[in-house]
Amino acid sequence: MFHEKRVNGVQFLFSDLLPCPHGFSTREGGVSSLPHLKSMNLGENRGDTPENVAENTRRFCLAAGLPQSTVSARQIHSDRVLYRSEGLKEGEERPECDGFYTEKQGVSLFVKIADCIPILLYAPDIGAVAALHAGWRGTAKNIAGAGVSKLSALGADPQKMRAAIGAGIGQCCYQVDDPFIDAFLGALGQDFARFLKKNDGDGRYYADLKGANKALLIRAGLREEHIDLCTRCTMCESDLFFSHRATKGERGTMGAAIALP
Ligand SMILES: [Zn+2]
Repeated sequence: MFHEKRVNGVQFLFSDLLPCPHGFSTREGGVSSLPHLKSMNLGENRGDTPENVAENTRRFCLAAGLPQSTVSARQIHSDRVLYRSEGLKEGEERPECDGFYTEKQGVSLFVKIADCIPILLYAPDIGAVAALHAGWRGTAKNIAGAGVSKLSALGADPQKMRAAIGAGIGQCCYQVDDPFIDAFLGALGQDFARFLKKNDGDGRYYADLKGANKALLIRAGLREEHIDLCTRCTMCESDLFFSHRATKGERGTMGAAIALP
């Protein structure tokens, strides 16, 4: 089950299924002052200063009990999940990928989202974690399954893994077009048509990305009762969450992060 917590003004969500440091940020508790970035913007290249992003990251990690050494990516809507043994070093370029995994302590693995779906994984049997960014392209490429494979390759049993799927755009708001539907079903199979629903009112289709990722985690071997899914929609609650669609792209970026205890 997901819960909301406020520490030193920083509001974030967490799942009681994950017994390790982690959190999903909201807009609350940061220092960014531009209206579209207010106030917990964790994204580079959104018109914010690097100092603000660094301070926001520091505050979020402190509130959520996460290590201050962090790594985040240049996200490219891929299924690329990279191993990290430590945080980004001073001046080091962010790698191009959409997820990280580690069995080392002391590093917070970040993904950045604003409607896309964040997925955090924990493998209790070997002590390993992963953070994944799943937009619709990443979902269609099965980054969820790719993350599970990486932890399995370290020796983790998917049957024991825990996953938390954080706040992202809900089916209520995620209207999709024919190219989306073709690509989505072409990649994942007709079975995934159950995650598309036609709205009788406007005749358009709406996709359930969170549900699709949950199904992909189950397909990768996770037990359903080991998957926590946050039902909150970032577009419906765009005063609390940054939403790309609600703002037509004029928005900050949230983070989801996990680390080993
Ligand atoms: Zn919604």
